[in-house]
Amino acid sequence: IADYENGEWGNFRIEPYAPLQLNPANATLHYGQSVFEGMKAYKNDAGETLLFRADANQKRLNESAKRMCIPEVPENIFMEGLTQLLEIDSAWIPNRPGYSLYIRPFVFATDDYLGIRPSEKYKFMIFTCPVGHYYSKPVSVKVECKYTRAAEGGTGFAKAAGNYAGSLYPALLAQKEGYDQLLWTDGKSHQHIEESGTMNVMFMINDTLITAPTSTGTILKGITRDSVLALAREMGIKVEERFLRVAELEDALRSKTLKEAFGTGTAATIAHISKIHISGNDYELPQKDDRAFSNRVLKTLDDIKYGKVEDSHNWITK
Ligand code: PMP
Repeated sequence: IADYENGEWGNFRIEPYAPLQLNPANATLHYGQSVFEGMKAYKNDAGETLLFRADANQKRLNESAKRMCIPEVPENIFMEGLTQLLEIDSAWIPNRPGYSLYIRPFVFATDDYLGIRPSEKYKFMIFTCPVGHYYSKPVSVKVECKYTRAAEGGTGFAKAAGNYAGSLYPALLAQKEGYDQLLWTDGKSHQHIEESGTMNVMFMINDTLITAPTSTGTILKGITRDSVLALAREMGIKVEERFLRVAELEDALRSKTLKEAFGTGTAATIAHISKIHISGNDYELPQKDDRAFSNRVLKTLDDIKYGKVEDSHNWITK
């Protein structure tokens, strides 16, 4: 835990996990100045704790913070806090394949006032929780063409708390219809695929891997997304960072040129998509075992994260 007061971070400490005391006028509760990260620590066979691309999470936290008028957390404070916490909490990483320690860093406003202005006080906190794989079975998704997750110029690229609040209602409606998640489309015309609620999404059409670009500022710059794209390029796969139109996706599903579709994210790593709903029609995708690329990239990523292969990308911190 660290406190931001009078323009600087201080009062660094580790405390047992416990409820926080907040005043009813706490600024975050009313105006939503809150950003977070999701990352994981793994154990290798020697019992050492490995962090995957922690520097990327630190940078993204600060990109989110800037957009929400929250002060940045300097790299040394982020890494020192994380290291000290993991010295204690890594004991909780289960020594079983697929298990890891989920890490939740977050920053939120702690001023007590009613009125719209950036808070002058903040807390930076990190807590952890041992986890298994997020999705053990493939997910069904519905292409959302009515509600919008993120609009250009908005906060879609930021891991800001309110983005998730705004996504809950449409996702709940889809769940009531029997789908696990939404595939969000763009906020202007709802004609191209952006991402899912907690994952970036990728499509293998024929032999080309297609995923939405991050340049519009409407999707989260996923660290798993970036890692999968890097590995795909190394494997000699043709990669296109471009928007996939909903109509194009439907054509690919009809003609069965869509070979694989999956979400990428820290929690799931790779989540196979088994069914896609587009404007009234359900399309089934090839079985999990037939998905050569996503199975291979999942294995490669897991091997890197668990220290089973050489870390040629410099993604791991011990
Ligand atoms: N998009 C959204 C909206 C997310 O919440 C997440 C999870 N952080 C992702 C994509 C995947 O990002 P990452 O690979 O960095 O976990």
